[in-house]
Amino acid sequence: MSQKLYEGKAKILYTTDKPEILLTHFKDDATAFNAQKKGQITRKGEINCAIATHLFQFLENQGIPTHFIAQTAPNQMEVAAVKILPLEVVVRNIAAGSFVARTGITSGTVLKYPLVEFFYKNDDLGDPLFTEDHIQLLELATPTQVTQLKQMALTINQYLQQFFSDRHLTLVDFKLEFGLDSSGKILLADEISPDTCRLWDTLTTDPKQKIMDKDRFRQDLGNVAAAYEEVLARVMSQN
Ligand code: UDP
Repeated sequence: MSQKLYEGKAKILYTTDKPEILLTHFKDDATAFNAQKKGQITRKGEINCAIATHLFQFLENQGIPTHFIAQTAPNQMEVAAVKILPLEVVVRNIAAGSFVARTGITSGTVLKYPLVEFFYKNDDLGDPLFTEDHIQLLELATPTQVTQLKQMALTINQYLQQFFSDRHLTLVDFKLEFGLDSSGKILLADEISPDTCRLWDTLTTDPKQKIMDKDRFRQDLGNVAAAYEEVLARVMSQN
């Protein structure tokens, strides 16, 4: 018997008959600005499930432990049950989004080195930026875990940057979430998709046309579903 465990903005989590395995259902629903803007993107659930499946398998092959077990339907994935750390781990290669708003650095500036940021996963507070000291004080993760999260995020960035660049996409920035399995091991969790990455098409210089991710939805740029379909096609291509 499967029971709904949790419904988020983009996914629903169900139990399975095995306590160590959960089922993730990817929705077509899209939200932005802490759910103040709501909509739907045609086929997003299936597209993001397929992209996340491919990227989790790719990263596993590079030695990154993930929660991915199997894709069980076009919009469903079996994952290992983990205790999600209440942190959004953002890696940035190019200035965009909230980083531009916070620093004044011009959007599109290539950063001297990839920057890792932590945000406290808390909708009521609007997911604030946290320092490592905030993380320690609120006991969200141990110092060792924070070091591991940073290392894993930077390693994942190296693999994904190359993967996307081979497919004519620039990985501008992205958000990761991690969880602890029953033995306390850190696994990459949640999803990696155009909902959680900024991806710019290298085949065009048009500042609006090059955006291939959820910023098309956030900024009402149109052709949102078409951009997601194109990212899927490129991810699946052998490059
Ligand atoms: N991001 C995400 N979920 C969030 C916030 C951010 O997946 O709740 C992703 C976002 O798509 C981008 C990166 O994390 O790829 C950095 O986002 P940023 O901090 O710039 O915030 P935004 O401008 O998206 O509000």
